[in-house]
Amino acid sequence: MVFFPPSWVPKLPSPPDSVPVWQFMLDDAYGRHPLKSSRNPFTCGISGRTFTAVEMVERTDRLARALSKEFGWQPNQGTEWDKVAGIFALNTVDSMTLAYAVHRLDGLVSPANAAYSASELEFQLKNSGAKALFTCMPLLETSLQAAKGAGIPNNRIYILEMPKEFSGDKSVPFKTVGQLIAEGEKLPQLAKQKWEKGQGARQTAYLCYSSGTSGLPKGVMISHHNVISNVVQIKTFEQPMRDARPPEKKTEVALALLPLSHIYGLVVIAQASSYRGDACIILPKFELQSYLNAIQTHKIQTLYLVPPIIILMAKSNQACSKYDLSSVNGIFTGAAPLGAETAEELQKLYPSWKIRQGYGLTETCTVVCSSPETDIWFGSSGSLLPGYKAKIMSLEGVEITGYNQPGELVVQSPSVVLGYLNNPKANKETFLDDTDGNGRWMRTGDEAEIRKAPSGNEHVFIVDRIKELIKVKGLQVAPAELEAHLLTHPAVADCAVISAPDDAAGEVPKAFVVKSSSVGIEDNDRMVAKEIAKHVQDHKARHKWLKGGVEFIDVIPKSPSGKILRRLLRDKDKESRRKK
Ligand code: AMP
Repeated sequence: MVFFPPSWVPKLPSPPDSVPVWQFMLDDAYGRHPLKSSRNPFTCGISGRTFTAVEMVERTDRLARALSKEFGWQPNQGTEWDKVAGIFALNTVDSMTLAYAVHRLDGLVSPANAAYSASELEFQLKNSGAKALFTCMPLLETSLQAAKGAGIPNNRIYILEMPKEFSGDKSVPFKTVGQLIAEGEKLPQLAKQKWEKGQGARQTAYLCYSSGTSGLPKGVMISHHNVISNVVQIKTFEQPMRDARPPEKKTEVALALLPLSHIYGLVVIAQASSYRGDACIILPKFELQSYLNAIQTHKIQTLYLVPPIIILMAKSNQACSKYDLSSVNGIFTGAAPLGAETAEELQKLYPSWKIRQGYGLTETCTVVCSSPETDIWFGSSGSLLPGYKAKIMSLEGVEITGYNQPGELVVQSPSVVLGYLNNPKANKETFLDDTDGNGRWMRTGDEAEIRKAPSGNEHVFIVDRIKELIKVKGLQVAPAELEAHLLTHPAVADCAVISAPDDAAGEVPKAFVVKSSSVGIEDNDRMVAKEIAKHVQDHKARHKWLKGGVEFIDVIPKSPSGKILRRLLRDKDKESRRKK
């Protein structure tokens, strides 16, 4: 049984497949023409630094000219894989200008999580084939270390400007994006991009990293058409709700706090919002006071959040009540499950807010389904976006034909990405055949069921995760990556990392470890566990730390083919926590 979007959702207009993202977003023929919205697309929530849409168009063009001079990159020459720009930075008002300037040269952007350690960043820079690195002052040290390891010379490192509170006064011998833009003004015009029909559906715009259903983080090739599709899907889904609003609320001020390196920040917040004519208030980092202050100062109306921030808000009513949050109409949460109880708790504190949840993946170039403003059902991830088809498959691979029956969610959409870079095995496992000429189906690795709301709308409930992935505060942790790292510690003979529940972060990684023979009986288990945890802290981003603890075990349960039986370990973890 194939599920479709509800009948009230408008049909998806055909998303253009022969135009680059930057042009779709900035050219008045397609996108957010300044005349269509008087709002500035991006404003820094701390310094107030802002540019109009017209200025953004100019700045993108000048930056592209400067990058062309710096690197010798030209539009229509070579492939996007010769022109990979790594971005490792906190959110800035210029982040999207930079991405679009690279696209203007037919290059591709690989954004890395700002929490990464030097070795994690080095892996991504090498794996993506990055030729230059754009960073910001607080991340410069890590960037230099990683760039050195990846063979990117110092004269290919650039700084995105940030508010003084973050960048400090130190001067460094690296060009800033602002300097490049100033230089670009005097440089010759670039050749027009000449795209063949369908080029946007073949050419990669972004290379984001995701571990998918199993294994190590992999480069996800996201085409220009994938991005444009999801932006149009989101806009079309929202259109009836926007149409029903009074004129002054047709566009809005939105919070852009979540990392623009993650697909949710990149596509839903930075691109779908600005395409609709909304204003994005950029915040580089979550810190409760500056977050509340930005809402109050900029009269933010929609808060794009992840569940841990919602949990914190529900628990910090005293701090929140000191700020005027009356501009807020609603929140939108995604990237990890928001439980119905938490949503109810927040709703009690803010009865007028619309608390909406969306579900998506890097591999679907974000949103699959989302709660309509008019049909919110706590615990649900809402209804399918236009252009999506969904099936629920049992573990045995049989199509489930009814409501309220769990199985793996499999979807088809023009936003389903091109695939993983250089990884035919993962591609074969994840991306299925195109059975009806409308694109490939994709296995999400999530367990879902379709339920019918009293309104008659079908809603998607994500009930569990089949794949190995752990989501900490909405960020990915790949168990295989931590397992490979743990095995480099002399005390570890074998190990398995699973997800353990956590009130604040949603989930945290926990390691089961078989001690190696180098650990004597005289060694204290607590000390050994501490050392193993430190081994992760020393090399991995904070969200990957073993906050769920290290538990010793005699043998890691495995199937005859050697697959770790994680469910057994999760049961064992439950048992251990029950005993505590
Ligand atoms: P990422 O590619 O980092 O966006 O991670 C995608 C994964 O996050 C999905 O496959 C889900 O496991 C999880 N996820 C995203 N949104 C939700 C949601 N609303 N409810 C439950 N899980 C979610």
